[in-house]
Order: sequence, then C-alpha cells, then structure tokens
Amino acid sequence: MLSNEATKYIWHPFTQMKTAAPPVQISRAKDCTLYAADGTQYVDAIASWWVNIHGHCNEYIAGKIAAQALTLEHVIFAGFTHTPAIDLAKTLISILPNHFAKVFFSDDGSTCVEVALKMAIQYWHNQGINHKTKIIAFENAYHGDTFGAMSVAERNAFNAAFNNYLFEVIHIPIPTENNIEALKLQLAALAAKENVAAFIFEPLVQGAAGMLMYEPAHLDELLLIAKEKNILCIADEVMTGFGRTGKNFAIEYLQQQPDIICLSKGITGGFMPLGVTLCTQQIFDVFYADETAKTFFHGHSYTANPLACAAANASMELLIADKCQQQIQHISTRHTAFAQSIQNHIFIKEIRQRGTILAIELNTAENSSYFNSIQTVAYQYFMNNGVFLRPLGNIIYVMPPYCITDAELDKVYEVIKTSLDYLSQ
Ligand SMILES: *Cc1c(COP(=O)(O)O)cnc(C)c1O
Repeated sequence: MLSNEATKYIWHPFTQMKTAAPPVQISRAKDCTLYAADGTQYVDAIASWWVNIHGHCNEYIAGKIAAQALTLEHVIFAGFTHTPAIDLAKTLISILPNHFAKVFFSDDGSTCVEVALKMAIQYWHNQGINHKTKIIAFENAYHGDTFGAMSVAERNAFNAAFNNYLFEVIHIPIPTENNIEALKLQLAALAAKENVAAFIFEPLVQGAAGMLMYEPAHLDELLLIAKEKNILCIADEVMTGFGRTGKNFAIEYLQQQPDIICLSKGITGGFMPLGVTLCTQQIFDVFYADETAKTFFHGHSYTANPLACAAANASMELLIADKCQQQIQHISTRHTAFAQSIQNHIFIKEIRQRGTILAIELNTAENSSYFNSIQTVAYQYFMNNGVFLRPLGNIIYVMPPYCITDAELDKVYEVIKTSLDYLSQ
C-alpha cells in the first residue's frame, strides 16, 4: 500500500502516528473534489485546512504561476525587489480598510504572527519605552505553532511540553453579551497597571478553538479602550481573511481598526505558502531611522517568493471579481437556510455562522474539546460518504472553497444531517 509507504518515511503534522488511520493518498484534485489514488472521490468541505478559496487546480492561478516560474522564480528580497511583490502590496493596501501603509512578507500564518509580535514589541523598544512588554490575548486563542505564536495562544495540550519556554501573556475571555461590561473594566485595569505592548486577537471567529464566534460591536468596545490606552492592536486574520466571514476581511465589520494585520492561508488561493503582515505608517516610522539598531531584523529565505506573489495576485483578482463575491454571499445564505433546517435536532448544542463558516457543536456526553472522542467516528462517517470534513472534537464545521456547487453543498448538508442521527445513537 502506498499510504503505508508514506508512514514509513514521513512524520505527519498533528498526527499521533501510532493510532491514526493511514493517510489517504490523493492523486489529483479539481475545484471542490479530491480524487484518491484508490478511485474514491471526496468533496473538500474545509478547503484543505482553510487555505483553498477558488477551488483546487484553478487554471487561472496555475497559469500565472507557470508563467512566473519561467520569468523569475526567486530572488533574495533584501537589496532586490520585483513586480509580483509590488503588485501584491499595492493590491492588499487598496482592498483593506483605508489605513495600512506597509506590507512585510513572510512564509505562512505562524511567521506572519511572529512578525506582528516582533514589530509591536520593537515599536516600543525603538522609542526607548522599554517597560511596555506585556501582551494581551484571548482565551482559547490559536495563532500558530512557532514559539511566539504558541506563547500568545491558550495554554493547552498542544503546547504543554513548551510551557516553560513561552513568554508570559495575559489572557482575557472573548466578549459576550453577559461579560462585556466586566471585560471592559478588566481591560482598562490591565492597561493601567500592566504596561501592555499589544493586544492580539482573531477577529470575530476563533478558528482552531472550534469556530467560537463573537460580535463586532463588542470587539469595537475593547479596541476603543486599547487605543485610548496606547496598546497596539494586532488582528490575526490568517483564517478569517479573504472572504471567509462574508466580507473580504473580518475587520470590515469594525469601526475601530487594528494597527497591524496578519494574513496568510487563503492569500494564494491555496497554491503556495505565503504570509504578510501589514502595519500603519505610524508603526513604520518608528523603524525609519539613521540608526542601524532600529532596523527590523527579520526575514526568511523565501520572503516574497515571486511564485507565491504571482499566485496571490491571481487569487486577489478572482476574489474581488463579482462572480466570487456573489458566490460568497450565496454560500452564506445557503448555510443560514441549512442551519435553520437542523437547529431543533436534539443532538445539536449550538449552531454558529459567520459568512461562509458554519459550525455545528454536538451535544455529546463528553465536554466540548478537540479531544472529544466523537471526532474519529464522525470523520470516518463523513469520509465513508464521500465528504471531507474534519471536526474539531465535537464541532463539525463547513468552510468550503467559494466555487463549491449547489449540488456539492447539498451533498455536504445531507451527510451532516444523516450523521446527526447516526452519531447520536
Ligand atoms: C492557521 C492559523 C495560523 C497559523 O498559520 P500556519 O500557516 O498554519 O502557520 C495562525 N493564526 C490563525 C488564526 C490560524 O487559523
């Protein structure tokens, strides 16, 4: 078996290699369908770890990458620049709320978060304000797997081995109708006594935590306090960016704007790894100096890789086109209708939706958690029925590429619906 050969040589991510089923070998993919080597087909209902927005092997993006590969495949990004990066930076600044001035390139979600944190900390350091060192983050946060990103995340089983190596972070709960007043007081008190450098958050949807959602108006209230108290605000839109929440960016739901934004996942349409961190002119200016020591000393070998930038430019063109914007609205509307049709099922604890993200929390005897044992059973049920869904514990979620057809969505909904009866037995 080919997949056995995979496990002989490869150590897979987030996988207990001893107990996990052997990986499914995928030989090709098109639009929303994954074709396995054994002939089985799966509807990719979670956009291959949230990265794919225009479907697999999109010909427009593939063509742009191929042309770029024969023009300039890569060049060091210190001392050199190139058109794909310039075009992408211009586009991002133009489609984001009118506020960001500079784009810093990196490789993926974790590294664009590292860049954001280092930028925020050095912003104060460069001004000789060395006491502002603390970071505030949300409980249940996930920002990636590198050390800085792990530090700002919820302390849990994923990072337990590294706890002593993670820097200290103050965690506050996500806002709700019930806690918002207390939370505002808590944030103001922290700002007054803790010398806070930055506040980092996943706007509106905490993905890895199980698609936990909260209201833009509440986030606005927290951001307003942070701004008044001189705390830099970092929006981690690695998952929510590029249409996921129904708008191009989750921060478009807000009145208050962050100082720094992190983008990755959907940026290249799922073709190439790429991360970007955008900041305001005010932040950039603190690094713009005659002293070499004020330089932002950060960079990766593949920074602003031209193939990744070409993929991103093509993906942005597709994203802002009417067709894609309509698809995003259409998926959102269909999600809402489906949610209403199943909301009274006794096996459902809660249904949450924001744009193209639909999450169904199952009412299991075990607590809600990534390690909830229903995950394995549910995953297998979906796969046996030709739909690739990868529940986060007892939370089933749908986050499809925007090109998903009505027939494919019907299939995904149908499988989820029948799974509710099957799993609750
Ligand atoms: C996935 C994710 C990351 C990490 O991105 P990688 O590309 O996996 O390193 C960071 N933040 C959020 C909100 C994410 O969902």
